[in-house]
Amino acid sequence: MPADKKTRCGLHTSVAGGFREMLIRAKALGEDAAQIFVKSNRRWEMPELAEEEASQFRQEKKAHDLWICAHAGYLINVAGGAETRKKSINALAQEIRRAEKLDLDAVVVHCGSRGEREAVEARRKATDGFREALKRSETKVVRLALENSAGQGSALARDMAEWGELVWGLPTGRRAACLDTAHAFAAGYDLRMEEGRRRLVGEMGKEIGKENLVVIHANDSKTECGSGVDRHEHLGRGKIGAVGLRALLREKIWRGIPRVGELPPGDIEDRENLDFLRGCLPES
Ligand SMILES: [Zn+2]
Ligand SMILES: [Zn+2]
Repeated sequence: MPADKKTRCGLHTSVAGGFREMLIRAKALGEDAAQIFVKSNRRWEMPELAEEEASQFRQEKKAHDLWICAHAGYLINVAGGAETRKKSINALAQEIRRAEKLDLDAVVVHCGSRGEREAVEARRKATDGFREALKRSETKVVRLALENSAGQGSALARDMAEWGELVWGLPTGRRAACLDTAHAFAAGYDLRMEEGRRRLVGEMGKEIGKENLVVIHANDSKTECGSGVDRHEHLGRGKIGAVGLRALLREKIWRGIPRVGELPPGDIEDRENLDFLRGCLPES
């Protein structure tokens, strides 16, 4: 068990102006965890990261005692058709390399969409694709955290057993998972109810494994439970609501797991969302 059982909170934080600017924002907000994009999330290309910029970032991240994960680009679909899949594996490998260079704590990535393909075939492609990206990245440390989906379109990992199979398909030592609360709600876990929360926690323990959960995307949902539609809402203002979210995030089993909100930014909203997260820490 890690000695550091502090439960960290933060938000997805902009890197506009450079990675060091992001650290200034994190500090000003009082985050002790955060998520960033390590490249433009809607483009494939990525220029080389200068070693000087990376090393300054690493030092300051350490000095500020920040936990930071990357969210991989939204275009990445390792279960996609041949051309998309090739580009995706390449892009993911580069993002993993960049994340390790920045000494980030994990790379969160979506499991991909199966399109017209059979689920079994799509899962095999995804697993092989993730392993290939890790290999090509020539990295050793940073973990790849597969995120559950709302099931929008033909997105993989709406189903808990499917998400688990993908997570366990990653190599030991690099294997991780990211739980998005809004996605779980849209996928049919009624987090407003004790029963729904119990079911989520129980199934995650069984299919994902406690040791693999490295970050929680703490989001409220604009859409109904079971809608299969992924729309984040500010914490406590959505369909899950404050009571359900608080009860879920206070689960003792998740003490020490960083939680990061992925919500529309705004000076007031950022502070409110962070305050909400700090009010949801599991008791020690
Ligand atoms: Zn995501
Ligand atoms: Zn998410």
